[in-house]
Amino acid sequence: LVRFDHVTKRFGDHVVLDDLDFAVAPRRHVTLIGPSGSGKTTILRLLMTLLRPDEGTITVDGDLLTHERRGGRLVPAGERHVRAVRRKIGMVFQQFNLFPNMRVLRNITEAPVHVLGRDRDEAEQRARELLELVGLSDKVDAYPGQLSGGQQQRVAIARALAMEPRVLLLDEVTSALDPELVAGVLDLLRDVARSTDVTMVCVTHEMSFARDVSDTVLMFDQGRVIESGPPEKIFTDPEQPRTREFLSAVL
Ligand code: ATP
Repeated sequence: LVRFDHVTKRFGDHVVLDDLDFAVAPRRHVTLIGPSGSGKTTILRLLMTLLRPDEGTITVDGDLLTHERRGGRLVPAGERHVRAVRRKIGMVFQQFNLFPNMRVLRNITEAPVHVLGRDRDEAEQRARELLELVGLSDKVDAYPGQLSGGQQQRVAIARALAMEPRVLLLDEVTSALDPELVAGVLDLLRDVARSTDVTMVCVTHEMSFARDVSDTVLMFDQGRVIESGPPEKIFTDPEQPRTREFLSAVL
């Protein structure tokens, strides 16, 4: 569902992603791990189209994100094309990024109404269902400032799902939370993984997240995937010395 083909990204002379190939199959829940600076966040930023690759192509749900066909030729994607493909992608950030001046319900309905053109009643009904899924039915009328970090993160997850993304990107979603709130958000993400068709791509420094939420772990080093597999395998019996070294430093 998500594919990187020969993707290279440089910042000046610094090659951050080096001829990177990887693919995430539909409904998979993939976590990217690896040392700081190995390019994990850059991958999410490329998918969010905050950055463009220097070389290579990125495909999301069968559509090229980086290019489009014009007159039979492949050309760099224009703004309209990018917007259309990006709609398939939802994102949850470390810092929640809720609209502070809007109540919870409005935070969730804003984009479906204004971006997807949904009817407001329909969007509100869906938002209430999502709030039930994330266990916050009683907070419909609260403002984000009245919620705990864990609750705000649940709203952010509901808000991302309200856009019915094919792919959900999760960037360090538990790292700003107090430790006692982390387990609840992990439980929720496991529920989301089980109960929806969404494909997840997560970046995290927390190995418990990778172990609990994902079915596949991709180990990055120096802008390449050096190893991938189910978490049980990667965390207990990794093939690559570099993976072993990284895990022994973080576990
Ligand atoms: P971390 O685990 O610390 O978040 P990461 O694996 O997510 O690291 P990236 O954030 O993708 O790594 O960064 C990869 C490399 O690219 C780093 O060396 C970083 O300094 C560099 N980099 C990222 N963004 C820019 C930028 N806008 N300009 C220059 N260099 C950048």
